Amino acid sequence: MEIQKEMKKMTLGHEIGAGAMCLKCKDKCEGFELHFWRKICRNCKCSLEDHDVQMASAESKKVGKLFEDTKYTGLIAKLKTDGIPAYRGNKVTFPEPAKGIGKVVTFEWAPRVANQHLVERYMELLPPEKRPVSGTQGAEYRKRQMAKQLPEHDQDPSHCHELSPGEVKIMQQYVRKCKDEALGVGDLKLLEELVGGVTPSGAEGHAAQGGKSCPETDLKDGTRSLPEPEPQAYKATISTTGSAGAQGNSGKDYLCFHCHQEMREGTPAVYADRAGYDKLWHPACFVCCVCTELLVDMIYFWKKDKLYCGRHYGESEKPRCGGCDELIFSNEYTQAESQNWHLKHFCCYDCDCVLAGETYVMEKDKPVCTTCYMKNYAMICVACQTPIEPEAQRVSYGESHWHAEPKCFQCSGCSKCLIGQRFMAMKNMLICSVECKKILQKTNPPTNVVI
Ligand SMILES: [Zn+2]
Ligand SMILES: [Zn+2]
Ligand SMILES: [Zn+2]
Ligand SMILES: [Zn+2]
Ligand SMILES: [Zn+2]
Ligand SMILES: [Zn+2]
Ligand SMILES: [Zn+2]
Ligand SMILES: [Zn+2]
Repeated sequence: MEIQKEMKKMTLGHEIGAGAMCLKCKDKCEGFELHFWRKICRNCKCSLEDHDVQMASAESKKVGKLFEDTKYTGLIAKLKTDGIPAYRGNKVTFPEPAKGIGKVVTFEWAPRVANQHLVERYMELLPPEKRPVSGTQGAEYRKRQMAKQLPEHDQDPSHCHELSPGEVKIMQQYVRKCKDEALGVGDLKLLEELVGGVTPSGAEGHAAQGGKSCPETDLKDGTRSLPEPEPQAYKATISTTGSAGAQGNSGKDYLCFHCHQEMREGTPAVYADRAGYDKLWHPACFVCCVCTELLVDMIYFWKKDKLYCGRHYGESEKPRCGGCDELIFSNEYTQAESQNWHLKHFCCYDCDCVLAGETYVMEKDKPVCTTCYMKNYAMICVACQTPIEPEAQRVSYGESHWHAEPKCFQCSGCSKCLIGQRFMAMKNMLICSVECKKILQKTNPPTNVVI
């Protein structure tokens, strides 16, 4: 029974986005088709996110799984249908024109705090192109970071390719450890609220759910609306925090843990319960220490005084395979081209043949076998019109290439070998001297002269 269930999941995984158009390649891709172990399209080799796929439900299941069995279960809701927990991503619509944003606006995600003013200020402090406003570049950025920073195959063995029972066990231990020791969700407060002595204990434990309780209504699909605008409620919040600021304005400077610049009064500060309440970040500074991207939905991994995204936390713990993009849980793997590879995944990028012990060529950072290289990438010798083998010496001049052999790299007039010699070039012709040029110009109309 169990096995059947797993298999069904795998199949489902492979069906996500099937046939979707590639936004990069347009007509050149016949539609998304998942490669059986690389996490890319078989047709065009772009990733799933490059294709026109509605990711929302897959995303919410992925992040739901990540927060399952953690202290952050407030972020997830069990779906009745299949028992897979779903992430309540907190989509928010401001029903009234938001100050500074200027129009009714829906955010694909917003920090889970009740105070609309605080959310507005938070969004204003993000770079405009990274604000997750529905239908904009910022929403697209969030979708890509969601896929990049939190790979499904980093936390769920059923999304990995052919793990041995031993590898599954090590992976489960690893996932447990990262949930217990590193995973967290940033929270947002007005600086005054923190400085003003809101006791950390008040925030503890609820941190992930947005600090103090939110009077919001959660809708089934995880969408939250901040509607029926209780204006008084907001006013009340603002004025309380205002007075808290006045009291708490003890003159102590709070510096951002990332940029070490001062945190300005009246601005929202991000904090992370794993890091402790003495550390604060500007909203735009809550980034991964490796890729420096904004931590998507403020989901972070904390390790040795550093914030990581899921992908880079994983890579700080385990090697990642350059072929299948999975973390490697086996002791046996190979290193080549400054990357790590499962032994079975050091394969030709084009035909998937195993390259261990074979000659290969790096083509745009991807290994390809010699056969595929000759077929798809090799330069064609201008003289003999055959592909130049990867190990062969070649001479290049502008866009033209020759075998570095006397029979190919020779004067078109007198056949003298030109390797190491001065030469002139006319369209596809090499010339050793003015004499040979004159002879050739007689036989070739001067319109052909390029140089
Ligand atoms: Zn494609
Ligand atoms: Zn493509
Ligand atoms: Zn900063
Ligand atoms: Zn990162
Ligand atoms: Zn692999
Ligand atoms: Zn090949
Ligand atoms: Zn040649
Ligand atoms: Zn000549």
